Amino acid sequence: MSMQSYRVPYNRPFVSGEEQDFISQAISSGSLGGPGPFSRRCEAWVSERTGVASSFLVPSCTHGLEMAALVAGLKPGDEVIVPAYTYVSTANAFAVRGAMPVLVDVRLDTCNIDEQCIEQAITPRTRAIVPVHYAGVACDMARILDIAREYNLLVIEDAAQGFLASWKGHALGAIGDLGAYSFHATKNITSGGEGGMLLARRREHADPGRVVRDKGTDRESFLSGNTPAYSWQGMGSSYVVSELQAAALWAQLGVADVVTQRRRQRWQLYHEQLSHLCEGYGVAMPCVPDGCVHNGHIFYLRLPSKRARDHVISYMRDAGVQAQSHYQALHASPGARKLARVCGGCSNASEVADTIVRLPLFHDLSEDEAGIVIEVFRAAVQSFWSGRGNFGNSLAIEGG
Ligand SMILES: *Cc1c(COP(=O)(O)O)cnc(C)c1O
Repeated sequence: MSMQSYRVPYNRPFVSGEEQDFISQAISSGSLGGPGPFSRRCEAWVSERTGVASSFLVPSCTHGLEMAALVAGLKPGDEVIVPAYTYVSTANAFAVRGAMPVLVDVRLDTCNIDEQCIEQAITPRTRAIVPVHYAGVACDMARILDIAREYNLLVIEDAAQGFLASWKGHALGAIGDLGAYSFHATKNITSGGEGGMLLARRREHADPGRVVRDKGTDRESFLSGNTPAYSWQGMGSSYVVSELQAAALWAQLGVADVVTQRRRQRWQLYHEQLSHLCEGYGVAMPCVPDGCVHNGHIFYLRLPSKRARDHVISYMRDAGVQAQSHYQALHASPGARKLARVCGGCSNASEVADTIVRLPLFHDLSEDEAGIVIEVFRAAVQSFWSGRGNFGNSLAIEGG
């Protein structure tokens, strides 16, 4: 079924309406290469909001994580601890530097890295922990920061989904040493469809970040008049972003809080309207631990079995509602056999991958559309129940 034929699609990328204006301004200014005035404005906005020493607009969150690996000086033989339930980039950004992602299990309640599994994955080669804040809900950062301090490890947050979410008042992405946001079209706000931001909390990472982003040169310091010429300083690549994309992002940052608020309202509506049904059928609701303020990025539920989940998604599809599963667990993938080490069984990661369903959620999802989603989800769950006996029985038949 194509996107157009859904009554309620999974996502509609956010458009503020100011993008074309700002993009035209960038074109008429004659300054399209980055980092230019729009990039600077976006970076200043994010640095101020999050309190980090510096932010770097980059082509994607994936590139932001690759930059983090370069800034951290990761090299072949180093290990980084990554959750087994995440997007491929969380591991690959380090694998491309020759470092070894070490995959550990996640918690069933938040789908975030299980902080209890981290210590057993640490070896003398471990250099960093990479928490992923799934659905914009923070990992147990208190425990992760403690472990990092004790073993002298860096914390590099994959905050792709964490823009404008917080933990104990601290912005996600700005809690560890380095952090990365995604401004892909599927995220809460977007820089023209692709984009991301690397955050460096500490001042000592600011200059290395500038060098790495601009082909391993001190061109930025040359642009600001601090050096008469620029030269090769070290490792780097081309992680600078066009002013066209920066202009598109600038058109969204000003209303990003409103977008977050709307998404949170819809998230809350789903939560209220579905909790009774979910309790009755053994469907797990999303958990937001104390101290976490989420950003309404994803509303997910976990069904009691893969068969139930697959049934719900296809039932909803037939009713015109685009619900989605999410990641395949990394530890079971061909890439992991070549590039990663798996620590423990990671059975929770498999279970989350098999049972999760994400409901449509975007800034202008109307109340009517949300109502359709709720009714269709209810009918989907009930139809599985009436076809199979209750979920508890189907679980027993499937052996868990
Ligand atoms: C979206 C996402 C990414 C990749 O972001 P890009 O900007 O597309 O590179 C990485 N990690 C997580 C957890 C994501 O959700």
